[in-house]
Amino acid sequence: MLNLILFGPPGSGKGTQATRLKERYQLLHISTGDLLREEKAKGTVLGLEAKKFMDAGELVPDAVVIGMIESKLDEYADKVNGIIFDGFPRTVAQAEALDDLLNAKNTCIAKVLFLQVEEEELVKRILERAKTSGRADDADEATVRRRIVEYENKTAPVAEYYQQFDIVTKVAGQGSIEMITEALAAQIDVLI
Ligand code: ADP
Repeated sequence: MLNLILFGPPGSGKGTQATRLKERYQLLHISTGDLLREEKAKGTVLGLEAKKFMDAGELVPDAVVIGMIESKLDEYADKVNGIIFDGFPRTVAQAEALDDLLNAKNTCIAKVLFLQVEEEELVKRILERAKTSGRADDADEATVRRRIVEYENKTAPVAEYYQQFDIVTKVAGQGSIEMITEALAAQIDVLI
């Protein structure tokens, strides 16, 4: 399996690029943000619990997201060429849990592609996206900034965690969508 993590702060383009790369490399795209929003929309117990955190711009508890990933892996790991993870792992505990889950399936993460975008550009993109996304957490600047602080405190250490295995590559996340896809693809091509 070719398993990749698309990593970066909120608004860095992970979702946009993951959608393009999954087509190109025939990978399963797993976005924990999308999965949580589906649960919210269905009004499940998990969705209602997650909503409180998401609307406040905070991370959903690890146990909730790890459980969701575990069931996706059980369902798909032996059916796909590989997986592109988007928005997961977002804490070191999630990264460790993911390693264990993948090890149990005799596979691992091949590469962490880390999108580099300046903070003011992130805020600008997310407030622009709010016009069409319908996401409460995109519409309010204070919540957007809260998400960036959560990222700095809890998610940025995930890049350091993977650096110990020498699998992190930084890619410029500003420029045209097509150029960024090509820069990411160049990194993936050397793996296959
Ligand atoms: P963005 O990358 O723009 O912040 P996402 O759709 O990835 O958007 O995430 C939206 C929200 O969903 C996050 O702010 C957080 O509350 C929750 N979330 C998504 N993925 C995770 C995760 N792996 N761990 C904890 N919370 C998560």
